[in-house]
Order: sequence, then structure tokens, then C-alpha cells
Amino acid sequence: MKDALQLREAVYAVFLSEDTERLYPHDAFQCVHKVAKQARARQVLSETDAGYRWLPLLTEPADLAGLFAEAAAELIMRRYDRRLIRECKGDNCGWLFLDTSKSGRRIWCSEATCGTHERVKRFRKSESKRLAGLTVEHNAAQLEKCIRGALNSCEPTTC
Ligand SMILES: [Zn+2]
Repeated sequence: MKDALQLREAVYAVFLSEDTERLYPHDAFQCVHKVAKQARARQVLSETDAGYRWLPLLTEPADLAGLFAEAAAELIMRRYDRRLIRECKGDNCGWLFLDTSKSGRRIWCSEATCGTHERVKRFRKSESKRLAGLTVEHNAAQLEKCIRGALNSCEPTTC
């Protein structure tokens, strides 16, 4: 379990470095490399519908970590043939994603979650500013109306 957590942290560190366009952190990269290499050594040459293929051997819990490391290694090998992996810019999210959007400017892991939260947050902020402005303007307009009314009638008025 400890090894699986270490691998998870290493994979996260490796791909997080792409968000800032840095080189992969050495220790994290070595961890992914080591586990992927061990998994490759356990592959079995097997006949499939698509012909003979190297397939993973899944007999121990550690083999699942090997699959994860191999998938990470595949992404690492395609680094220069794909867009960089990005970190979601949503509050308290931290998810990593591969931007497959047309524009390549995606900033949230999901439009439905972090994207919506961010837009709601922005809307509430702008709305509270607008309402604060309206209150001051509204009070000023109301005061002006009372003063004009008082001056025109020359009688005491209530606002
Ligand atoms: Zn997110």
C-alpha cells in the first residue's frame, strides 16, 4: 500500500510539473520508471484477437500499480506529441487533466463542476458589487427626490 501511495504521489508530481512546463522531477520520474519497468518485466506474450501482444500479468495487488505506472509511462513517452497536462484552476481542486479541447485553453478539470463553481463565484461577486452600487445610488436618488419635493412644496415631507 505504501508503494502504491508513493507511486500515486510520484505520478502526480511528474504531471504537475507539466502545468508549469518544467522538467519532470528526478525522484518522481525514477519512481514511475522503476515500477513501470518491473511491470514490463512481468508481461506475458499472449495471443489476442488482434494478434500476439505483450499483456500484463495480473496475479498480485502490486500488478495494479504496475498498470498505473505503465499508463503514466505511456503518457510520458507521448509528451511531445500531445498537449501538456494541466492542473485544474478551480478552488481547492488540484485535479490534473489532459486538455483535449479544440482551443487548448481549458482551465478546469470539468466545466460541470469547477467551471460552474467558478462562474457562480464570479457572478455573485459582480452581483454583490452591482447591488452595493445600486444601494448607494438608490439612496442618493431617493434623497434627491425628497429634497426636491421639499423645496417644491415648501412644506415638510417625509421620506
Ligand atoms: Zn477541478
